[in-house]
Amino acid sequence: MTWTELRRRGGDRVREGESLAPYTTYRVGGEARALVVLASRADLDEIGPALVDLEVPWFVVGNGSNLVIADGALDLVAVRLTGDFDRLEVRGEEAVVGAAMALPVAARQLSARGLTGFEWAVGVPGTVGGAVAMNAGGHGSDMGACVSAVEVWRAGAVEWWTPERWSPGYRTSAISAGDMVLGARLTLAEGDPDASRERLREIVTWRREHQPGGANAGSVFRNPPGDSAGRLIEAAGCKGWRRGGAVVSEKHANFIQVEPGGTASDLVELIRAVREAVQSTSGVRLVTENRFVGFAEAP
Ligand SMILES: Cc1cc2nc3c(=O)[nH]c(=O)nc-3n(C[C@H](O)[C@H](O)[C@H](O)COP(=O)(O)OP(=O)(O)OC[C@H]3O[C@@H](n4cnc5c(N)ncnc54)[C@H](O)[C@@H]3O)c2cc1C
Repeated sequence: MTWTELRRRGGDRVREGESLAPYTTYRVGGEARALVVLASRADLDEIGPALVDLEVPWFVVGNGSNLVIADGALDLVAVRLTGDFDRLEVRGEEAVVGAAMALPVAARQLSARGLTGFEWAVGVPGTVGGAVAMNAGGHGSDMGACVSAVEVWRAGAVEWWTPERWSPGYRTSAISAGDMVLGARLTLAEGDPDASRERLREIVTWRREHQPGGANAGSVFRNPPGDSAGRLIEAAGCKGWRRGGAVVSEKHANFIQVEPGGTASDLVELIRAVREAVQSTSGVRLVTENRFVGFAEAP
């Protein structure tokens, strides 16, 4: 199907020329050809078929907390899940969470319902869909440890994937271009609500103490085996390095903050400079954890 068909089917759910910067935590990025907003399965059934053979590349934007989107006019379509996809249902020790639900909200609601095992997610500012795609994790756990099935839309068909098919790895999974995560089933355990609340509090405090605020997207690089990207970046003397409005955090060297007025080009230039500095001082070539959209060549 074509772009014309997408516009015809989508109506005002297809927002042309929308800036994507407000949908990312770096607050940078240009205008998509369109942002498609899906608020229900009915929306997906109606509009989804027009995405299958669309001549323009498309991708899902969750909370944009791991995304670097290129500057300028972008010939791509962003899809955003909202409405009915922001849901949580608990049945015994299982919970079904929609892709649009914010991880910190899910972590708090599950804890309040007496379930334990998802507290780690209180400090990760993504959506369930983005966390499934990335296999997000922290504080000794990750999605792979909690998720028993993933609901995926691919080429117009919806299926529940087993963990084997989903294949969560270190900030990777089998979710790829053309896949839309709609939700996940979590298998947790009954726990002590007071202990769980205390764990949430500890994690939030730890994050405040160790991570910077401002416009950032968490760890820029993955940790290489047996080492930490932050340690290597600090050892290479990059803390405080700046390109335009992008600055390597003084608080945590693997975070880059973008100041108001900063651009994706500033950010990418800085990422390249940091990677080169680390390579020349330690011999380690860092691999990015942030995902890049709309670049001719991602760093
Ligand atoms: C302050 C801060 C702290 C962070 N700490 C952590 C941490 O401790 N651990 C960690 O793992 N990450 C961390 N992150 C990074 C980020 O929050 C996670 O990677 C998160 O899982 C991204 O979710 P998102 O919804 O923002 O996804 P986005 O950034 O919007 O997208 C990330 C990728 O997932 C894809 N995607 C998003 N939604 C869907 C969907 N529904 N279907 C298919 N694909 C989808 C996107 O296309 C993209 O490829 C942190 C970020 C910040 C800003």
